[in-house]
Amino acid sequence: MADDEPTAGIADRRDLAVRAAVEQGLVGGADGADPLVCLLDAAGIEASAAALHAAFAAALPAGTPVLHTFAVKAAPLVAVLRLLSRAGLGCETASPGELALARAAGVAPDRTVLDSPAKTTAELREALALGIAVNADNAQELARIDALMASAQSRSPLGLRVNPQIGAGSIGSTSTATATSKFGFALRDEGARARVVAAYAERPWLTRLHTHSGSQGVPLALSARGVRELYELAEEINAAAGRQQVDTLDIGGGLPVNFGSDRETPTFAEYVEVLREAVPGLFAGRYGLVTEFGRALLAKHGLLVARVEYTKSSGTRPIALTHAGVQVATRTVYAPGSWPLRILAYDAKGRPRAGEPAVAQDVAGPACFAGDLLAENRPLPLLNPGDLVVAPDTGAYFFTAHYGYNSLPRPAVHGFRLAPDGVRFTLVRPAQRLSDLVAEAGGNHADALLEP
Ligand SMILES: *Cc1c(COP(=O)(O)O)cnc(C)c1O
Repeated sequence: MADDEPTAGIADRRDLAVRAAVEQGLVGGADGADPLVCLLDAAGIEASAAALHAAFAAALPAGTPVLHTFAVKAAPLVAVLRLLSRAGLGCETASPGELALARAAGVAPDRTVLDSPAKTTAELREALALGIAVNADNAQELARIDALMASAQSRSPLGLRVNPQIGAGSIGSTSTATATSKFGFALRDEGARARVVAAYAERPWLTRLHTHSGSQGVPLALSARGVRELYELAEEINAAAGRQQVDTLDIGGGLPVNFGSDRETPTFAEYVEVLREAVPGLFAGRYGLVTEFGRALLAKHGLLVARVEYTKSSGTRPIALTHAGVQVATRTVYAPGSWPLRILAYDAKGRPRAGEPAVAQDVAGPACFAGDLLAENRPLPLLNPGDLVVAPDTGAYFFTAHYGYNSLPRPAVHGFRLAPDGVRFTLVRPAQRLSDLVAEAGGNHADALLEP
């Protein structure tokens, strides 16, 4: 946070930003331009990064090597990676695209981790040449790394990703450590643990061990149990090796987000406490640590602002037709029970309509299918055309993971900071123009399916 930046609570900052976004013409233009915009609170992101550093630093002996990386998939925006890099974080990448974004943000190879489940040989070769840390997902990938290591030197720290198979949280699709999860070496399968220990014994260059056992819907204690399994396996490998072969544990990310209010909970400090209880040895300073948090760093610092285009009623249900739907809140629209979002009502000038009587209504998106609802039967001040609806907590995995249904364009993303003279916005990602959209839909290949 800049020294002269006024401090305000998360809700106050949001209200100021929405008002300023209207006044500065970023959203809700009179002729219908810019009906949807996304905002990122730069100081909020910095505060979360600082909280992450502080939580682990307070629990570890001074001098313990720690690399906090940001899981790029949570917010694949170069300016976000750059801001986090300035705040001392590296990047966790899981595709060639994410790796390219990390490099575009200037994140150094030795602060980058590659975790994709389906790395090609070319990707592995590039990562090893650059010195990027790689966690191998399976035995076949490990065999490819063997071949690459036989033909070239690499500075890359290398490890295996393991699945401790500790069970699911409340959301199946984001539970990474079930008995049948697709990720990593499944530790509890018959003979698997011995094979992993043997893999380390045969490869002195395997020095890391990785798991990512938490996510939205996974209780902290369950994630911590996955980390304990990781730690115990490292101890077993090192005992078998007779030396500290595994020197760094990558404990993944997965701290859940509170979508119910503005409280940032659970905190990084709370997670560190739970980890300390479950895995005291992790904090003894004998292992370096890598973390890969995504949602917990960004979710609370992003918001969607969408204009209400029309209002109507169907049956007895009032419906507001807005410009935010499945394209920016895909998980919420397809699985509303698992991914509920708060909706806040503002008037056309960007002033909160707080305190007005609530009427249950649907907040619908612009897409052509009936299920395209941001919220169903939600008590809100009765919305009017021109009002704005705001969906907070959308800084991770929402507008940063655009879904191209109905050829709805990717909206612009602006960062904001409070300054003594008001709210200052900076463009993080321009809106996708219709000409971009046509080009991406093969506009330059229009004749491709006509007769040759
Ligand atoms: C998605 C992912 C993360 C980040 O998860 P969050 O829930 O956003 O913290 C970290 N590591 C790996 C390997 C992942 O796939």
